[in-house]
Amino acid sequence: MQLILDKLKLRYSRRNTEIVKWKDNTGGKVIGCLPMYFPEEFVHAAGLLPVTLFGDNGPIAHANRHLMTNACGAVRGTFEDLLLGKYDALDGVAAVLICDQVRFFFQVWSLDHEFGFFHQMWRPFNIDQSSRPFLLNELKRLKSALEEFTGNAITPGKLCGSIRLFNETRSLMRALNDIRKTRPGLLKASDLVKAIAAGMIMPKEEYNSILKELITQTRDSDYESGEKPKVMVCGHPCGMPEEEILDLIEEMGAVIVGDDFFTGSRYFSVDVPCSGDPVEAYADFLLNLIPCTTYHYPQNWIGQDRSLSTYGDYVADYVRENGIQGVILLREMYCDPFDLEFVMLKRKLEERNIAHITLNTGHEAGSLETQRTRIQGYLEMLSC
Ligand code: SF4
Repeated sequence: MQLILDKLKLRYSRRNTEIVKWKDNTGGKVIGCLPMYFPEEFVHAAGLLPVTLFGDNGPIAHANRHLMTNACGAVRGTFEDLLLGKYDALDGVAAVLICDQVRFFFQVWSLDHEFGFFHQMWRPFNIDQSSRPFLLNELKRLKSALEEFTGNAITPGKLCGSIRLFNETRSLMRALNDIRKTRPGLLKASDLVKAIAAGMIMPKEEYNSILKELITQTRDSDYESGEKPKVMVCGHPCGMPEEEILDLIEEMGAVIVGDDFFTGSRYFSVDVPCSGDPVEAYADFLLNLIPCTTYHYPQNWIGQDRSLSTYGDYVADYVRENGIQGVILLREMYCDPFDLEFVMLKRKLEERNIAHITLNTGHEAGSLETQRTRIQGYLEMLSC
């Protein structure tokens, strides 16, 4: 089991050389997709390999000269990799404009570095049925752009085939996640997020067969779970959470049994419907994802009661339904959507009597030692 996890982690850590290797072996083209919610299935159906672009969590030197230094770590880390030439092998890049920072960053990118394929997909921020026609139109625009770039028609049959393949990936990821819920501690959270992230950079056909073997070996493990406080970790809407923090939380005596990471539940919780017109089905999928801080829920901003938080309700329900004792919020510095939701989220957790702690994370978040002291105090409180 650990051998497979280590191999997946290695594939993730060598993600940029993986692209070069794949291109050399297949002669195919690769499209880099910024997190989150990019319709990768459309890219796959056009005969291309979609890979998610994860910025590095390491020091930022060059990107700070091009972008505001209060841009979030996900944006600056990705731009740093671009400036270091790590994306030179890509044939194109694409993004859903999930927040103002991505929109701004992508426009700078379009001026700085041209690619053969460069596509920005707009997304309605209000999630209700009134947004559906706009969303559908954006999906059709993406489909046409990919067809023009490749010369390949994205037929309903091809798109359905890609959707089925990606649904299988999501279903396998959910199965792995279920094991960590039912056998707490068997899978380290830092291993799991990287195993999930590996699936976003590898061809799904290969990844799915590796994941099936991992699930079999994990189920066969004779590991016995102990009695540790169970926590859910939320935050980092679209970047990779820091391995050191996840490890610290678990080394100090808690066990992470739930998350709300892009490299976690946010990626695999919902499948795309497989019936009817696949473009229409994809629009419905995007409208029915689990609540997210990057979406606006219009009902939360109307009337006197401003304590509504669709996202907060989702987190609180998840905690209660899974017998979780507390929530650790990883507040990535300079992430506007998370900051805007933060007050309502905290209020919701307080209303529902859910113990929580907030840790600032990101490139300038400070030392791990400070986090250690805070986590220790929080876990002692949970154990009382
Ligand atoms: S959602 Fe937050 S972390 Fe993601 S790109 Fe926007 S500001 Fe950065």
